[in-house]
Amino acid sequence: MPPVLLQALSRTLPADALLSHPVDLLTYESDALVHLRAMPGAVVLPRSTAEVAAVVRLCHEHGVPFVARGSGTGLSGGALPRRDGVLVSLARMTHIRHVDLDNQYAVVEPGVTNLEITRRVAPFGFYYAPDPSSQSVCSIGGNVAENSGGAHCLKYGFTVHHVLGVEAVLPTGDVIRLGGPTPDHPGLDLLGVLIGSEGTLAVVTEVTVRLLRRPEAVLTLLAGFPSIDAAGEAVSAIIACGIVPAAVEMMDRLTIDAAEAAVHPNFPPSSAVLIVELDGVEGEVRELFSRVEGVCQRSGAETVEVARDNAARDRIWKGRKAAFAAMGRVSPNYYVQDGVVPRTRLPEVLRRIRDLEQRSGLRIGNVFHAGDGNLHPLICYDESIPGQAERAEWVASEILEYCLDAGGSLTGEHGVGADKRASMAKMFTTDDLDTMQRVRCAFDPRSLCNPGKVFPTPRLCGEVPGPYRAHPIERAGLAERF
Ligand SMILES: Cc1cc2nc3c(=O)[nH]c(=O)nc-3n(C[C@H](O)[C@H](O)[C@H](O)COP(=O)(O)OP(=O)(O)OC[C@H]3O[C@@H](n4cnc5c(N)ncnc54)[C@H](O)[C@@H]3O)c2cc1C
Repeated sequence: MPPVLLQALSRTLPADALLSHPVDLLTYESDALVHLRAMPGAVVLPRSTAEVAAVVRLCHEHGVPFVARGSGTGLSGGALPRRDGVLVSLARMTHIRHVDLDNQYAVVEPGVTNLEITRRVAPFGFYYAPDPSSQSVCSIGGNVAENSGGAHCLKYGFTVHHVLGVEAVLPTGDVIRLGGPTPDHPGLDLLGVLIGSEGTLAVVTEVTVRLLRRPEAVLTLLAGFPSIDAAGEAVSAIIACGIVPAAVEMMDRLTIDAAEAAVHPNFPPSSAVLIVELDGVEGEVRELFSRVEGVCQRSGAETVEVARDNAARDRIWKGRKAAFAAMGRVSPNYYVQDGVVPRTRLPEVLRRIRDLEQRSGLRIGNVFHAGDGNLHPLICYDESIPGQAERAEWVASEILEYCLDAGGSLTGEHGVGADKRASMAKMFTTDDLDTMQRVRCAFDPRSLCNPGKVFPTPRLCGEVPGPYRAHPIERAGLAERF
């Protein structure tokens, strides 16, 4: 970190908005993908768009990379800092600037948590639809960067479907606005380009989100099945009936055990559970719900519990949403994978994962958005046992191969970040990646904005992309051993 930049930052920001002591920096060395760590050169905590723009402009002038960070709950190392760079934490930009219920939108700063938006408008019968399981802590800026999803995205879509506009600071320090409260702006859809760009194009300093009215009726059931396959059949059968539930979530025994140990949701003792939620107009929801109950019974459900009130519904969702964090109860370390498969290929891919579990000797829990085919295998390991962390990484990359073989995708919602960039070339051609890079370079010609993320090889604009680099364990020929 050039001392001259640190001096310029200290002249630009209030004293409590610049951290450079190693002890202060430690907090920021990773996001929720904790095995990737790097100490940032400095951390800034701006309170306004003007302060963000000033910091970014200084980085640009000094040719120093910078990384935006929201709440640090990302699971792909997207907010992994650079030793030679500045980490821009948006954690102090937490104001809800404006709420317009008549036109159903809110304008919020990037550090506002996802759930806080709903909390603010809930008394008036509104909510913000995308609901990542981390919603009580993750920031809306992080959601925009990752195009985050959640249990209810099956029916309601992802962040991109609920963000109407943003204000953002370009890597030069210029402030731009894309979109706005009215839907469908003319011109190129640069808002669509920015959402899901994982902090590689700009720093988002304000977000205009769409608000929805709470549905008239919500009904939730929890069904226990003798096997994952039987639960998977129920999912296919529900969708085949033409019903679009608000959410269909599946958990296997290992993740149920973890959730029970952590938050005691009192799930049935089955090998797998399905959570199915329907919402909408009362009469229609009741009619469709009884059809869903029938499908579960015919698919071999051992138990079907219907949530009779909000307390019962909250208990069921608490069990589901705690599942990732709860894995700490059953394993010293775990690796969260995120891949997508076409729904119809779920049983086959889950069987391959079970086989991999036996071959690798590592336990793998499964909790996922079954309706979207979005898998979240949780690979348990113990980093104090030599080689296990590497084996877990290898298992995670194998699972991605299975998803791609089945015609799926590298990530459903957690992003590519630093974690999966080497796998991008397995899914995209060189021409695909080159086109993405050209878009990136149009925003960030000096590659200063979150470099080393998303793309397979670090590169400056104008360079030719490099070939896919195999995981070290593959290169060492160890893959066959597992
Ligand atoms: C227990 C748990 C459960 C989770 N469940 C889900 C889930 O159900 N669905 C889901 O989609 N994700 C889930 N996640 C992942 C994570 O919460 C989301 O990716 C979330 O959007 C990250 O938000 P954040 O504020 O923590 O961002 P960070 O981790 O701080 O950053 C994530 C990325 O966004 C960029 N970024 C952050 N803020 C900005 C900004 N203002 N401008 C530009 N770029 C920015 C960063 O550079 C980084 O690339 C879960 C994570 C955990 C730990």
